[in-house]
Amino acid sequence: MVFIYIERKENMKEKTVFQMNVEEVLEKHQTSLKGLSSAEAKKRLEENGPNALAEGKKRSLFARLLDQFKDFMVIVLILAAVVAFAGAIIQNKPEELTEGLLIIAIVIINAILGVAQESKAEQALESIKKMSNPHTTVLRDGQEIIIDVADVVVGDIVVLHAGDYIPADIRIIESINLKTDESALTGEPIPVEKNIDSISQDEVALGDRFNIGYMSTVVTYGRGLAVVTSTGMQTEIGKIATMLSTTETELTPLQKTISKLGKTLAIIALFVVTIIFIIQILRGWFTVGVENIAWIEIFMSSIALAVAAIPEGLPAIITIVLAIGMQNLVKQRAIMRTLPAVETLGSTSIICSDKTGTLTQNVMTITETYLYDSTTKVTDIVNPTKELKMLIDYGVLCNDTKVQLSDEKKYIKIGDPTEIALTDLSIATHDNPIKVLETYPRVHELPFDSERKLMTTVHEIDGKYVSITKGAPDVLFAKATHVNNHGSIEKVTPAIIDTFTQQNQDFADQALRVLAIAYKVYEQKPEVLQLTHDDLENDLTILGLVGMIDPARPEVKDAIIETKNAGIITIMITGDHKNTAVAIATDLGILEQGHLAITGKELDRMSDEEFLEKLPQIRVYARVSPENKVRIVTAWKTTGKIVAMTGDGVNDAPSIKRADIGIAMGITGTEVAKGAADMILTDDNFATIVSAVKEGRTILSNIKKAIHFLLSCNIGEIITIFLGVTIGILLFPNEPQLQILTAAQILWVNLVTDSFMAIALGLEPKEPDVMNQPPRDNSKGVFADGLGKKVAWQGVLIGFITFLAFYIGYLIGDEGNKLQHAQTIGFMVLAISQLFHAFNVRSEKHSTFKLQPNKFLIYAFFGCLVLQLTTVFVPFIANNIFGVDDVLHWQWLDWLVVVGLSVTPLVVVELVKFIQNRCSNKLA
Ligand code: ATP
Repeated sequence: MVFIYIERKENMKEKTVFQMNVEEVLEKHQTSLKGLSSAEAKKRLEENGPNALAEGKKRSLFARLLDQFKDFMVIVLILAAVVAFAGAIIQNKPEELTEGLLIIAIVIINAILGVAQESKAEQALESIKKMSNPHTTVLRDGQEIIIDVADVVVGDIVVLHAGDYIPADIRIIESINLKTDESALTGEPIPVEKNIDSISQDEVALGDRFNIGYMSTVVTYGRGLAVVTSTGMQTEIGKIATMLSTTETELTPLQKTISKLGKTLAIIALFVVTIIFIIQILRGWFTVGVENIAWIEIFMSSIALAVAAIPEGLPAIITIVLAIGMQNLVKQRAIMRTLPAVETLGSTSIICSDKTGTLTQNVMTITETYLYDSTTKVTDIVNPTKELKMLIDYGVLCNDTKVQLSDEKKYIKIGDPTEIALTDLSIATHDNPIKVLETYPRVHELPFDSERKLMTTVHEIDGKYVSITKGAPDVLFAKATHVNNHGSIEKVTPAIIDTFTQQNQDFADQALRVLAIAYKVYEQKPEVLQLTHDDLENDLTILGLVGMIDPARPEVKDAIIETKNAGIITIMITGDHKNTAVAIATDLGILEQGHLAITGKELDRMSDEEFLEKLPQIRVYARVSPENKVRIVTAWKTTGKIVAMTGDGVNDAPSIKRADIGIAMGITGTEVAKGAADMILTDDNFATIVSAVKEGRTILSNIKKAIHFLLSCNIGEIITIFLGVTIGILLFPNEPQLQILTAAQILWVNLVTDSFMAIALGLEPKEPDVMNQPPRDNSKGVFADGLGKKVAWQGVLIGFITFLAFYIGYLIGDEGNKLQHAQTIGFMVLAISQLFHAFNVRSEKHSTFKLQPNKFLIYAFFGCLVLQLTTVFVPFIANNIFGVDDVLHWQWLDWLVVVGLSVTPLVVVELVKFIQNRCSNKLA
């Protein structure tokens, strides 16, 4: 019902807002029906602050830094440093202090890197979160504008539609069947009808204040206007909400797997390291005697090895790769709302897409009209008959499009494309929609909703009240008792309904979206007659049909081909007629031979077993209800697929939430749909979903690359040391205190190659065939598909090469300096071979030389190379920290060994890829 009335001001002081009438509320908040001026709103915002619930304090930089020291391995490292310092002091060997200092330096650098990565990821998340902040429509300077909810001030007039979040506490001043869902506040799930009447009682429970709307609750039906009465922490929800804690960044499934893996590796590493430690001690005992054992060195290198074995940087690297990926997705017009969703996106195997606006352009043009038994193309309408004119005018009247004439005498139309098409029909047939609207003003209405698929308005026409209903023909025919047969009103018969149904199908087969228009005449105003929804939308007289084209988006056909190559199934879910959906789905390549199209009703009749059996064949669902959508998502999820589902209406929120990737439309979507979604499409376009999945796949595969790289390098380091204490004993009987690498060297390689190269790998460009592979099966672990094996053998390769480098270095080293020479060559080969190995990891299949270059990896390679050379060329660092050989006196043979062995992993892995590709090509 429409209520706008103004009462006299009475006893304003004692009254609470719900007791006041509209005029009093407006006056109390110094506003008017035109809204505030923008200057006043700005002033109020400055005075009272943003309309937001207070957030918990952000963690300080120091607290974040401190957090980094809570890590188990960091604690081990600090203990190791203490032992190193103590050892140096007890043994009175100040040169041993450097080891302890190096460990402390590494701990600090690691902590700083950790904080920097965390902040970068947080910033990215924060800025993206802002993009999906809820918006609301308010009247400012007499105009409707859309603003951020945070900018709403007391006194603002809010324009409410179904699907909006209520931005603050409000007093309703206009209600057209307004209903809200207040479960967020009161827990009551049934929508509450809102009106503008003042309430006389003093004490009224929140849920019974029918003229008040509360912040964070949802408009589920109807529309209206309201005055903002309190904002932010002054609202009811603000009063009960204790501080909103700043949302902790949720761990993604992969991060959880990795941190679990880290813990397992820590246990294994400690075990292996203990064994290595014991072997070294026993060996020293039996060779040099217990008093000469280099306890500190052995202990330190064991600790270093333990640290090297654990991929402690991986969770942070995954976060940063996901956060950067999220930023790239924004450029592709997809706003992701959580990090876990970015990770899931790449595994999407089913995309359930709306038709209208996502697969099609949502630019509707009516091309056909139908009155009982006669079709007329719009282009052929010259002198419309009385009934045809009625059909056109009724289409203008039962319509929420706002129509204005511009200064250049052009029509400006704002509204839903389906309804704009009806206004356009009036203009195309030389009618004047503005005049029609002024002549027959609306006195009552039932808004459109996608469950009823109907809309009704009531107008005073020639002294009588006429309700006009438009909507889905099949729904409307079922409610008709009469038909207007070119002026004569006849009772409908099954034959007449058949004729209309046939025509509806003929239009739909031509991919037209069809609306039926019907009416009903009353002698008195509907309010006087106290008509219910059902009264208004029953016993209708059918007038005719209009058929409109909504062309497919041109880019969608290619996107569908891409999804097919990528093993992704696209499913069309639409509220539209089955035949229209089938025609468009066939044209786009969604519906092919052997596939099925069903309606929501047919789905309702299916048992769960029957549905699951047919599920893989069904590619089109027409005339669906929001509940149908939830059932479709759930069914696909039970088959283990990762499902993406689009939606825009308030009723779509459950299916959006249920899907693995809930997608809301940025342009046409309601705030509620956006609030429920994981991803918001800023252009509403299906092709964007496909590019987002492509980006998601790249992000996932880049994370896998970082994991592959780090773990294989760690294994390389362990194998090197392990070979030293096993084969090393046999090969170097004269070196009882043999250390393949010093603790400082292991820690350095771990630090330098770890973070930089791994992050650079996380920024790899797309591999050419990223969309030519089936979706990743999330139930299989990250090491499925051979990654585990690759990590293992490539790690072993690096280990053997480093050990070989040490061995050769020992053989060619000068007498008396053999050990240091061997260590230095081993150190160089371990570090540089890992830098080259990063190029192997760029693709599991393709040669690195055939891929698009990754500039970040090239920068990281040269940067790390320079750092590595610093460790041997800068005398202070070389002598005091790493204890390396004097490389300035090296022969060409030494360098040849370093270069030759360092590139070996690259050569070997390239060769293996080449042979594998050859074999698989032959098999194909
Ligand atoms: P999709 O779900 O693919 O976006 P859709 O836009 O057709 O498809 P709905 O908006 O739920 O889905 O519309 C369902 C049906 O309701 C339409 O096929 C049409 O017949 C009817 N309809 C759509 N808009 C209106 C409207 N403004 N007034 C009356 N009936 C409408």
